[in-house]
Order: sequence, then C-alpha cells, then structure tokens
Amino acid sequence: MADNKNTFDVIVIGSGISGGWAAKEFTEKGLKTLVLERGKDVKHIKDYPTTNMMPWEFEHRGEIPFNIQQENPVISRCYAYKEDAAHFFVKDTEHPYVQEKPFDWIRGYQVGGKSLLWARQTQRWSKFDFEGPARDGYAVDWPIRYNDLAPWYSYVEKFAGISGNKDGLDVLPDGEFLPALDLTCVDNYFKDVVAKKYKDRHVIYGRCAHITEPQQIHLDQGRAMCQKRTICQRGCPFGGYFSSNASTIPWAERTGNLTLKPGAVVHSIIYDDKESKATGVRVIDSKTKTATEYFAKVIFVNAAALNTNLILLNSVSRRFPNGLGNDSGVLGKYIAFHNYRARVSAKHEGHLDYTTDGKSPTAAYIPRFRNVYKQETGFLRGYAAGFYSGRYGANTQEGFGETFKANLAKKDLGPWHVSSHMMGETIPKESNMVSLDTKKDEWDMPLLKIKVDYDDNDEKMVKDYIEQMKEMFTEAGFKDINAMDSKQAPGLDIHEMGGVRMGNDPKTSMLNKWNQMHACKNVFVTDGACMTSTSTQNPSLTYMALTARAADYVFGEMKKGNI
Ligand SMILES: Cc1cc2nc3c(=O)[nH]c(=O)nc-3n(C[C@H](O)[C@H](O)[C@H](O)COP(=O)(O)OP(=O)(O)OC[C@H]3O[C@@H](n4cnc5c(N)ncnc54)[C@H](O)[C@@H]3O)c2cc1C
Ligand code: SF4
Repeated sequence: MADNKNTFDVIVIGSGISGGWAAKEFTEKGLKTLVLERGKDVKHIKDYPTTNMMPWEFEHRGEIPFNIQQENPVISRCYAYKEDAAHFFVKDTEHPYVQEKPFDWIRGYQVGGKSLLWARQTQRWSKFDFEGPARDGYAVDWPIRYNDLAPWYSYVEKFAGISGNKDGLDVLPDGEFLPALDLTCVDNYFKDVVAKKYKDRHVIYGRCAHITEPQQIHLDQGRAMCQKRTICQRGCPFGGYFSSNASTIPWAERTGNLTLKPGAVVHSIIYDDKESKATGVRVIDSKTKTATEYFAKVIFVNAAALNTNLILLNSVSRRFPNGLGNDSGVLGKYIAFHNYRARVSAKHEGHLDYTTDGKSPTAAYIPRFRNVYKQETGFLRGYAAGFYSGRYGANTQEGFGETFKANLAKKDLGPWHVSSHMMGETIPKESNMVSLDTKKDEWDMPLLKIKVDYDDNDEKMVKDYIEQMKEMFTEAGFKDINAMDSKQAPGLDIHEMGGVRMGNDPKTSMLNKWNQMHACKNVFVTDGACMTSTSTQNPSLTYMALTARAADYVFGEMKKGNI
C-alpha cells in the first residue's frame, strides 16, 4: 500500500458529487486515498456563512448588485446565483474560458463542488435512456444497460437519502425511497386531469435528495430530517439534503484513509511510457503556483465533465500526443447537454379556498412521454417537464400614497399560478466539442475552448413541448397561458456531459463498461464526461451510481492483482 507522503493507493481528482462518492468508496475499502480539489475547503456547517441569515440581514436583500452582475454575465444568468450563495460560484473573470459559440459554463470550485448548489432532483435513468443510441443510431451504443446500474442506484440512494413515491413507471424506474413530500392541491388536480386524458403521461412527485424520514445510515452520517427551509444552496446545517460536504467527504474522513488537499489544481496526469500506465498527477498549488507530483496505482477523474476533458486533453505524452487515452480521437467530442429553453405558465382560477402551507424543496415532475415505445414525432428522443403551482399574496406595489400603502398591506391571496419548464435530451454530435486554446490561465493550464450548439432536433423538441404543454394546460382549464422560449445558450442547464464517452469499441469511445480507459487501464472517469448520451432525467444520481460501481470493480481488480 501507500509508502511515502506523496504516494497513495488511489488519487481522486475533484471533490464534488462524483469525487465525493469515489472518496467514500475507496476509503471504506481501506485504500489510502488522496482527493485533490482545486478550490478552497468547505467544512459542513462551519463554512456555510449565510445559512442562518434572515432575509433582511443581506446587504442587498438577496440580490446581486448591478456592477457585479455586469462583471459576471455568465453566472448572473443562473437562477441560483443570488447574494446568499454567490460565494459558492466561480466568477466569470477569475476563471475565463473561450466561447467559440455561446456557452454558459456554471461552476463551483470548492470542496463539495456543485453539490452545495444543486437542485437535488434525482431521477433514475430508464432502460429507454440506455437503449436510445442503439435504437436510433445517434451516438454510440452504451456498453451497459439499466440492469447493470440498478443495484448501484439502490446502493447510492439508500446512503444519500432520496424521497419519492413508487410510481410504477417504466420510463422512470422506482428506487429506494424515503416518504415523498406532498404535492399541492393544484399539482394533484393537474395530475388527475392528465391521468384522465392521457394514458402515457403522468404528473408525479419529483424524486429528490432530501431526508424526509432519517434512517440509521443518515443519523450515522450526522444528518437529520429536512426542515423544508428551501434555502439549500447556502449549505444545510441539518444535512437535510445530500451534498459531498454533509455526507460522503466526512464519511471518508472518518475512516482515517482520506487525505484531502484543497487548493490543488490538477494540471495533468503523468503517463509513464516504460510502465505503459499512468503513475500520478501534476498539481499546481492554487496560491503559490508551485508544482508537486503525487503518485498512485489508480486515478479517478471527477473534475466535472468539461474540466475532466480539459485535464485529459492537457495530459500529453509521447504515447498520447493528443490527450490521455485518446487513440480514437474522440476525446473532447460528442459533448451534449439538456435543453431547458422553454417554459409555459398560466393562471388557475379554481381552488381559491385552498392555500399552500409551508414550503417544499421539490416540485412535481412529468416524466418523458415522447418517442418512448416508438418513434412518433419528427425529432429524436424526448423531454421531461417540471411542474410548479403556488398561490401568492394579492398585494402589489401599485398606486401612490394611501393606495400604495393599502396595496402593500393587503392580506388577500391572488389566484394560483402554474408553470412548467422543459428538460430535453440533446443528441451528442462530433461537432459539439471542446478543445484547448493557445492562451493559458495563471495555473499554466490552457483555456478550454467550447464549441457547443443546439440543432434542428432541439428546435423541433422546443416546439413540441410548447404545443403539448399548452394542450395539457388548456385541458386543465388554466387561463392566460403564456409560452416562452428563452433561447438561452447551452450550459445553463448545468448538465453538460460527454467528451470521454463510454462504449464497447475503443475505436469510437474512450471508456469501457467499467468507466475504465480503453487505452490506459488504471485511469477511470465517472463524472458527466463519461456519458454516452444524455437522457431527459437529471444526471447526478447516475454519476453517483457509476462511480460506486466503478470503485467496486477497481477494488476487485486490485485484489486480483490486475491493476
Ligand atoms: C444551480 C444548480 C442546480 C442543479 N440541479 C441539479 C439537479 O437538480 N439534479 C442533478 O442531477 N444535477 C443538478 N445540478 C448539476 C450537478 O450539480 C452536477 O451534475 C454535479 O455536481 C456534477 O458532479 P461532479 O462530481 O461531476 O462535479 P462537481 O460537483 O462540480 O465537482 C467537481 C469538482 O472538481 C473540482 N475541479 C475541477 N477542476 C479541477 C482540477 N483541475 N483540479 C482539481 N480539482 C478540480 C471542482 O473545483 C469541483 O469541486 C445542478 C447544478 C447547479 C449549479
Ligand atoms: S429545505 Fe431541507 S435541505 Fe434545504 S436547507 Fe432546508 S432543511 Fe436543509
């Protein structure tokens, strides 16, 4: 096992959602594990500076001042970039990249990565998602199917704590759920309308990584029940939602096998031509800019999809002049994402004798219903949709003087508002790619050049989503239906995937069915970079399951002496 201070059994690059799982799995198995994280340390509870602040305690009442928005146009477009969580976002100016085409790259560089900021939606992918490329021939076939991952979904769900209902839908397999939170009466009304009219469409509770009934395993992590404060992006002192900071990283720390190094920018992976394997990583200290090398038998790359591409493209050697493991030439290509462009909203005049009591950290969800059992539209694959309903106060800021004051003080409630947003699957294409720019950043890393765009398939999907949602809203009797295509740049969905895709054929893919590099067997990629296609469901639960599965495989191979 590990012998000197720079040598470990395993190195994990990145401490976010997927890196946290790698750390937990390896340390639990007794392997000395080094987690390298380019950002600062964020300790659970201690480093959540805003978590107990009241709205009036924020200098700008929660908003980001105009000059800071102007300096950070990309992150300012993200709905979660507000005063209470701004410190967990990467500022545009501090970490530049090159947009060959507009791409909103939203990042969180710290221990925990984006797991502190995510919306915690955790839908399993279905057999249709893993079969998609094989069915229509776009992107390569997945080397695994749903059944390969099902036990690992269960494994990570039990530990993370996922709430949901068993809905019995083949498009969205059930998992190991804690009790679901409630839908509103209008969600339930819409659910009934949709169920009556369409056999294949369902409105369900969105499964999410919130503890609704703590099990022993959650208490052992020091986590407690979600209090429904809905200010999760600040970091939750109860550990009510899953984050690396509250869950996997402290769990790994407790084993005594974890070395966590914040402020360690991984520059590249070292490949040894003589040994025909990767031997370690080159790291630049984020503050002093000095370089150090760390060594290990196995390297897990979990820097989040596009940064993982960047590190591999930057890892050049005599054997791999175009990036580590890149015999196929596909590294950096077939980047895909989710299409969140369209939104439909309306007013609901019924249910005026009901109100909402309290808050919910999730909302209703409409699983994919297009092109599931057969190709029925002019576009490939499909979309899921979020659905939200709420009732607000009728007070306005209209009028002057006494009328103004009276309007502000009004206690009445207005009608219910409903809204939905699409979550479309985009097709990975060779032309959607990232590469290295000639300019470098202050850590001697080339800037990432991103060339990713929508295509005709996405346009058709937006149109169909709007038509179908309008039809469903009309059926429910909703009024003032309003559809909007934001035409936002790719990236704002924050579900970027691909570039280091899995596949059976080393000529067309980078990783085998265990997330192991075809051409460099001791390097594994289990974050979004490994995804062969994108599904319509949120991806992070799948990264967790793939990571735990790959770590188990590595441990077995190590025991057999194969790695
Ligand atoms: C507002 C928001 C809402 C979201 N909602 C959802 C949702 O509801 N459901 C869902 O499934 N997903 C959601 N996501 C996406 C989710 O957060 C990501 O899919 C997930 O965090 C990816 O995990 P990861 O391990 O790949 O990357 P991350 O969690 O981003 O972690 C990567 C880590 O690697 C580090 N790193 C990068 N480069 C280097 C380097 N060179 N050297 C060392 N360290 C490095 C980073 O600092 C970071 O800490 C959301 C994201 C945001 C921001
Ligand atoms: S909603 Fe739950 S998880 Fe989110 S901050 Fe509140 S208690 Fe924590």
